Amino acid sequence: MHSEFDLIARYFTPAPPGPEAGVALGVGDDCALLAPTPGRRLAVSVDTSVAGVHFPAEAPAEAIGHRALAVSLSDLAAMGARARWCFMALTLQARPDAWLEAFSRGFKALCDATGTTLAGGDITRGELAIGVTVMGEVAPEAALTRGGGRPGDLVAVTGALGGGAGGLAAWQAGERDVGHPLLARYLFPRPRLAAGEALARLATAAVDLSDGLLADLGHILEHSGGGARLEPEALPLAEGLVEALGEARAQEAALSGGDDYELLICLPAERLDEARRRLAALALPLTVIGRLTEAPGLHGVPGARRLGWQHFRGDETGGRP
Ligand SMILES: [Mg+2]
Repeated sequence: MHSEFDLIARYFTPAPPGPEAGVALGVGDDCALLAPTPGRRLAVSVDTSVAGVHFPAEAPAEAIGHRALAVSLSDLAAMGARARWCFMALTLQARPDAWLEAFSRGFKALCDATGTTLAGGDITRGELAIGVTVMGEVAPEAALTRGGGRPGDLVAVTGALGGGAGGLAAWQAGERDVGHPLLARYLFPRPRLAAGEALARLATAAVDLSDGLLADLGHILEHSGGGARLEPEALPLAEGLVEALGEARAQEAALSGGDDYELLICLPAERLDEARRRLAALALPLTVIGRLTEAPGLHGVPGARRLGWQHFRGDETGGRP
């Protein structure tokens, strides 16, 4: 096992960032010194991924590195923020060099793809867990919160749903080919940063789909008030999902599976065409799946409570507060 300093030097010290990275002092001192863009808000979020809880401990190391960063970046996407910096708190037992090399390669590749600079971190011994803090920037008036949705707004999602749950099911069934479309979505989720920025001034509210569509829509309603009517038949299902799980389970995976890391947005109907135009430039579909309503609760989804809906009274599932 290498010492902490040796590990940091070998695997986690990026090439000195250029001035555009906004890092006055990076990995290696007591603190990093960052140079945020004047006039922007800093968007900051942290997520911890624990082996055996958030991902299979035997997952490919490259995927573990990628995923740990992706789930944090997805929160920046949901704020309409541009990713700038990240910090990693890594806990692990002795690992072979090949594992560390692949882990850091997965992490770095996503840093590079998203313009994120690793600006510091910490390594400790213990069961594998990766805490990643991300920082992004957003114009004050463009920050997308969960609280701006209004009755009548369309509810729409980027990309396709159910791939997270479908991929996990594939893994549990023994699938190990990372080129498998569902497994790829589970192991290498793509945070929708460019989409978040493109939609920031069009959407009224947004959340990323980490806990499952119903739970995350619940977060929107909690903050925006009112309710929603969904059209479950409109949900865009991930490629291969119905073939893998059958129609009923595919639908459930899309409604409550989690780990999809798509964006759910609310927006006035007259902005839909423009939003779709912007996402088409990113080769990403935007699918309308329902509307916000004055009436509180969730409407249009039979069995919603069983599928994780637990936020509101007045829904059609007959539950209490
Ligand atoms: Mg989130």
